Amino acid sequence: MVTRPTKIVCVGRNYAAHAKELGNAVPERPLIFLKPASSVIADGETILLPPESQQVEHEAEIGLVIGRRLGRGADEAAARAAIAGLACVNDVTCRDLQKLDVQFTRAKGFDTFCPIGAMKAVDPGFDYGSLTVIGRVNGLERQRGLSRDMIFGIPMLVAYISNIMTLEPGDVISTGTPEGVGPLKPGDVVEVEIPGIGVLRNPVASRSV
Ligand code: MG
Repeated sequence: MVTRPTKIVCVGRNYAAHAKELGNAVPERPLIFLKPASSVIADGETILLPPESQQVEHEAEIGLVIGRRLGRGADEAAARAAIAGLACVNDVTCRDLQKLDVQFTRAKGFDTFCPIGAMKAVDPGFDYGSLTVIGRVNGLERQRGLSRDMIFGIPMLVAYISNIMTLEPGDVISTGTPEGVGPLKPGDVVEVEIPGIGVLRNPVASRSV
């Protein structure tokens, strides 16, 4: 990452098959929420399962790292120019708490719930429709999504979000997860791979306190 993010902006239900697997309708406009900067960990660090949840799940996602400030009035061309690079993200989620709470903050905001991999730089002309994101647990593939199947594409999402909140260098946008989310248990190793971009690998352990 360029710097520690001031915020991580996530997009929910951005793949129709994933919205369906959780029983949700496809949104008419991007559904966005925040994860706190305190939830970020790096490649190799441990995801800690809190005792408040019995159902912590992986969400393999394509992350965007912002390289320059982008604010209100930005269009898709400005959005492209503001993206410094791509990174693997795991939007770790307590599915049971997400269903209990109206807001996603508790379910997705625990410490260690936002592993982010190393950034690979891209230029403004990058073909964002050509990406694949893969999620694996203990080496077994659980998720495989194609960016061309996103409901809202990457330049549109960055422009949309920057018209709501100013994006700062180092901020991360996570663009939603494809179908195949599933539970994590202590001792698992979870991976997110974006071929050509990188692999993010994190062990999982229970949190005792
Ligand atoms: Mg997600």
